[in-house]
Amino acid sequence: MAPVPVAEGIFTWPSDEPQLIGSRCTSCQIVTFPVQASCPRCASTKMEAHLLARRGRLWAWTTQEFPPPSPPYAGPTGDAFVPFGVGYVELGGEVRVETRLTVADPEALTEGMEMELVLVPFRADEDGDEVMTFAFRPAD
Ligand SMILES: [Zn+2]
Repeated sequence: MAPVPVAEGIFTWPSDEPQLIGSRCTSCQIVTFPVQASCPRCASTKMEAHLLARRGRLWAWTTQEFPPPSPPYAGPTGDAFVPFGVGYVELGGEVRVETRLTVADPEALTEGMEMELVLVPFRADEDGDEVMTFAFRPAD
């Protein structure tokens, strides 16, 4: 029952203060998440790994009320499914990240509120290990 990351290269792991791993174009400085092999703005292939800020501002959000199509969704379905929040958080003025939110009540969230990255259990894999994914929660 060891926790494992949902995928390699998405966030720093293991880490007490996890950060999302993005990429930055060394030509025009645009930041992407997740990592991209070429720049979406100038098409340069000179992208370098870039750790994103752990805190950011909530930009848009909603609630996922039913299981998304699978694949790519690999979480609980049927009676095991629990609605969850999803949204965009702007990090460091660099990039907007599409993310899960720990809050599934849209009324409890406000535009521009400060959010913080956390890792949360997502599902158990075939070995019974807890698969961890990232989410943002309202910052203290
Ligand atoms: Zn570029």
